[in-house]
Amino acid sequence: MDAVSYQRATDVNSAIEAARRPGAMFIGGGTNLLDLMKGGVAHPVALIDITRIDALNHIVSQPDGGLRIGALVRNSDAANHAGVRMHYPLLAQALLAGASPQLRNMATVGGNLMQRTRCGYFYDTAFTQCNKRAPGSGCAAREGLNRMHAILGASERCVAVNPSDMSVALAALDAVVQVSGPRGARAIPIAQFHRLPGDRPDLDTNLQPGELITSVDLPPPLFDDHTHYLKVRDRASYAFALVSVAAALQMDGHTVKTAHIALGGVAPRPWRASIVEQKIAGQALSAATLREAAAAELANARPLSGNAFKVGLAQRAIVRSVMLAAGQTGESA
Ligand code: SF4
Repeated sequence: MDAVSYQRATDVNSAIEAARRPGAMFIGGGTNLLDLMKGGVAHPVALIDITRIDALNHIVSQPDGGLRIGALVRNSDAANHAGVRMHYPLLAQALLAGASPQLRNMATVGGNLMQRTRCGYFYDTAFTQCNKRAPGSGCAAREGLNRMHAILGASERCVAVNPSDMSVALAALDAVVQVSGPRGARAIPIAQFHRLPGDRPDLDTNLQPGELITSVDLPPPLFDDHTHYLKVRDRASYAFALVSVAAALQMDGHTVKTAHIALGGVAPRPWRASIVEQKIAGQALSAATLREAAAAELANARPLSGNAFKVGLAQRAIVRSVMLAAGQTGESA
């Protein structure tokens, strides 16, 4: 590892001030950043430890009925919080589907939003072609091992997927990310937080330099108990999603009033399945309607040599997750 200075911040303003130094990075739980540093992928010259900023470590009910989850709340604490479990079970399910208990005890909500892709070529510096790690060098995954990679939203430059389960649930819930930085505070809707790679795959998010995530705000709960998070993976735990589906419905009997559906494991950012949402809104829910809607959503897929199976898998996972969210027997994925 490179030489790196360490500074502990006690409040948001001092953290932001310390991060003005070129090459500085914030560190919370460190479950991703330390791996990146040890692997020679990340090279911060200064680490600003934000874990002692108490103001960012609370879950607070909001006047509008929503919930504010501080950026430093551990994934396990968020998943087990009574308000999250009762009013946002979709988020609790997604959090508990991620990583392992040990990692969830360390990883923070803000850090989860910032975690980087798990593309093997990105982590292994023996491979020289990776536009995300070394802009302009190429993309080894395009013609290499790409079974886990994107079928939607990728670019010629990068086909990596976002690995977060939590962010998929946040996308379906229309969460808002609160940040503070050298130019003040601002709110970023979750749909605008992560970027598609385009010609700048080195940039994962729309955060500006020096900006710090302070909280994630959940709008008032809308979906009663009609939510479900389905994660399809190679083994039962401690594995990233091949495909995941966060489904949240407002139902009127058997009719879907509104649907919020987000996909994970298929794109460089959580993917709102807006075509499915539009096609099933106002319709009596049936597997046939869902199959048609899911096929329309995945008609835009551009699979690679090793991941064409994800197209059908994503369609079946959408059907199953939405049916389970509605309280009906799910179709097999
Ligand atoms: Fe790098 Fe992205 Fe290609 Fe993976 S998919 S090798 S992260 S450029």
